[in-house]
Amino acid sequence: MKELGKIEMLDQVLDLQGTLLEIQQRQSELMAELDRMKEENRTLKAELLSVGELEFNGRVYMRHTPGRVGAELFCQVCFDKDRKLIRVQTTEDGQYWRCLACQTTVRQH
Ligand SMILES: [Zn+2]
Repeated sequence: MKELGKIEMLDQVLDLQGTLLEIQQRQSELMAELDRMKEENRTLKAELLSVGELEFNGRVYMRHTPGRVGAELFCQVCFDKDRKLIRVQTTEDGQYWRCLACQTTVRQH
């Protein structure tokens, strides 16, 4: 009877160890999830900030940075669709802006 009691206790200890392992596993999953959410939060904050600074001139988005000469120009399609800030480039003839990501081309004037 006494031996049986010991075995039951050992079983309980083993159960507890198993539970503890599950909790530790779950905890590390939650920590990873938390890291992922922190990263996402950081990205969203940066995005919100840049949205506030953007100005649409009818063709491209412009961002004026203090201390920087001229505005940075970004593709409307890429930003509206994917919230990506892709700079546009002036075409060789100097008449258009082109986005190299989505190939959108718009007249400069
Ligand atoms: Zn684009």
